[in-house]
Amino acid sequence: MECCLKIKSKEGHGDLADYVACPSCDVMFDISILSNGESARCSRCGHFLSTYRVDETSRVIAYTSAALILLALACRYPFMFFKASGLESVMTLPQTALNLWRDGMPDLAFLVGAFIILIPALVLFLMLALNIALLTERHYHWLRPVGRLIFTLQGWCMVEVFFIGVLISLVKIGHMATVVMGLSFWAYAVFSLLFVLSLSVLDRAQCWRRIEALQP
Ligand SMILES: [Zn+2]
Repeated sequence: MECCLKIKSKEGHGDLADYVACPSCDVMFDISILSNGESARCSRCGHFLSTYRVDETSRVIAYTSAALILLALACRYPFMFFKASGLESVMTLPQTALNLWRDGMPDLAFLVGAFIILIPALVLFLMLALNIALLTERHYHWLRPVGRLIFTLQGWCMVEVFFIGVLISLVKIGHMATVVMGLSFWAYAVFSLLFVLSLSVLDRAQCWRRIEALQP
């Protein structure tokens, strides 16, 4: 369910944390009036503002926990088996970065390892820690910096881009070699889905409202 919020002045009304500025036209809106399941758009330009869900923190904890477990499985087991001209090879996810390192491309190895494993894992871990604190309503001094870090790092995760790249490569390699997907491939596929779901459920405006509500 969606609604267009009416413009309100922030002066003299309620808590500042209840107000969000439209990212497109900077008009302030009070998002505390949203009911469970309602989304809000700017009444002036139509830009999406926020979605309120009572169980947002529980959902984020469930998705991020499952995603972290699947990422661990994806790093532990073989990603793909290749067979061509009588030669067989097995590749694991961390080996994609290690092989680039061994081939004399340390910069590319670092970027691949960071974008597909390290940064997504860090974002998930921070989201899990933050949402456990929000669910248990405990104030910690690190809530604000961690919130800022999560929303900054989100743009640097390329989980779904990597997975689409793998699928395109499979179509090309499939003509030259026999390729068998390992357990890690399927684990990373589900991990990608859960990662995208985690980010889509975590509403930026509502997350900050919850953080500000815990400030002493
Ligand atoms: Zn607007």
